[in-house]
Amino acid sequence: MPGKLCLTFDDLFVNNWCAARPVFDAYEARVTFCISHLHTATPEQIKGLHLLQRDGHEIAYHTRTHPRLDQYLKRHGLEHWLEHEVDRGVAEHRALGFPARSFACPFHASTSETRKALAERFEVIRTDGPRSIDPDNPGARIYQELPANKCLANLSFADMQHKAFPGWKRQMEFLDLIAETGGTAVFVGHDIRARKTGPGFYSAQKQVARLLEGAVARGISVVSLQDA
Ligand SMILES: [Zn+2]
Repeated sequence: MPGKLCLTFDDLFVNNWCAARPVFDAYEARVTFCISHLHTATPEQIKGLHLLQRDGHEIAYHTRTHPRLDQYLKRHGLEHWLEHEVDRGVAEHRALGFPARSFACPFHASTSETRKALAERFEVIRTDGPRSIDPDNPGARIYQELPANKCLANLSFADMQHKAFPGWKRQMEFLDLIAETGGTAVFVGHDIRARKTGPGFYSAQKQVARLLEGAVARGISVVSLQDA
């Protein structure tokens, strides 16, 4: 029971993600790209997203304009958020052939009301970020089945250059735990660059390859959120 790993990459770094396609193919990894701002995408970016989707990767939804949830809800309320940041953008995704089955919360923010409304619209909801993990109980974020509320919190980072990345020793311990328990875990990332260019919300291609190598060596399948 070696488990499943869902690597997720957020926002709209389409050109760099496309450049990383050979890395995913080398490990037969299928990942999830969580897209915001699709309405601002260039024709080249939309073409890139279709290419990633044809490769078998998932194009998921990450709100329309990526607002801060608490401020938005205070100013406009839940119904306004659902109309403008969820349903409107979902329609834009679907009009371009992207099914919007999974939702990734911007800034890892959610409330019981947003989670409930999202569960009526999506198959999977990616919620809390890796920084809020209980270090003594990482296994709480390894799932044996999709919870009834459809919410999966992130176990760790796929941004290996992130200042809060716990390091490779810890990262490999997480993979050991996934393989031992046979569960599913989600890692969150953003950009994938050709090489390291200092700190930031990204991984270099070689770092993604190292993570995939570690997963594959343990028999862990790297699948999209919709296949979690
Ligand atoms: Zn984001």
